[in-house]
Amino acid sequence: MTDREEMLSRLRAGGVHDRAVLSALAAVPRQEFVPPEHLADAYSDRALPIGEGQTISQPLMVGLIVEALLLKEGDLALDVGTGSGYQAAVMAACGARVVSIERIPALADAAAARLSALGYDVEVILGDGSLGAPDRAPFDAIAVGAAAPRMPVALARQLRDGGRLVVPLSSGDIEELTRLTVTGGRWRTDSLGPCSFVPLIGADAYEGS
Ligand code: SAH
Repeated sequence: MTDREEMLSRLRAGGVHDRAVLSALAAVPRQEFVPPEHLADAYSDRALPIGEGQTISQPLMVGLIVEALLLKEGDLALDVGTGSGYQAAVMAACGARVVSIERIPALADAAAARLSALGYDVEVILGDGSLGAPDRAPFDAIAVGAAAPRMPVALARQLRDGGRLVVPLSSGDIEELTRLTVTGGRWRTDSLGPCSFVPLIGADAYEGS
């Protein structure tokens, strides 16, 4: 088995079953998103350092988040915490038009250059994603790739009716991947299981240093 095939079988074993999501994860070249010194681990199921104290998310977490977004072709999706751009690329490979927001300029610039070189339909913007991207809202789906201390209400308000927000929520030492769905103005949340992410830092999140 190739490294990529092994990654896919671990994703299936970890609970990712949607065919479009698995094809997207099979198609996106993760080796293009990891720093050269970690190339050998590009398809291992680990978060890896990408500089600035941040990490490219673990493939299984990206799979679970993107599956939970229930993306349809042409959906407008917001990715909070661009990092390397990997999760945004997987969302675009599922057929979404993606806006991705990152707070660290060096990461935003590198990800924008990488995503455009690889031909993904992703617009990277610099800013505090804990407040969303109000001028681009409403979104069909919003994914947060960093752990929030509470439900980011500004993000939930930027969903259109039927929209989905997937966010890791911390309480104490525990992080729980959570999906909020809006239907007819009502919010419903589902727990999707434990997870581990770097903190979301911003006005409606953790304080930065
Ligand atoms: N999903 C990304 C990795 C995410 S790591 C990937 O696949 O590579 C989380 C990222 O969120 C980091 O780059 C961090 O700088 C960013 N981040 C943290 N708080 C943020 C905020 N309020 N707004 C935007 N980006 C944020």
